[in-house]
Amino acid sequence: MHELGIMKNVLEVVLEHSKANDVKKIQAINLSIGALSDIVPEFAQMFFDLLAKDTVAEGAKIVIEKVPAKIRCRSCGTETEMDTTHLLFSCDKCGSKLIELVSGREFRVKSMEVE
Ligand SMILES: [Zn+2]
Repeated sequence: MHELGIMKNVLEVVLEHSKANDVKKIQAINLSIGALSDIVPEFAQMFFDLLAKDTVAEGAKIVIEKVPAKIRCRSCGTETEMDTTHLLFSCDKCGSKLIELVSGREFRVKSMEVE
């Protein structure tokens, strides 16, 4: 499962941060996730609950913020926000198919709420 490995990473990051800042309990964890990543929020929460048991992060709520995917045209340099319901693989402006993904697959811990 994809989400399991990711949540393991998230837990490591927040536990490290908690240790450094003497946090007693984590209430919520805000994650930024690219619109093209295929993370299922329910699974993310479920795996996190399992992994975080008996740590300061036990019971923390996983809050997921989706970051829009962006593409850049290599021919004319135009950046376009990708509509993930109709995947766009050519440039809006010049029609070129030489495009690259600028964002949309990232994953990071944005912030956390602690006690
Ligand atoms: Zn273009």
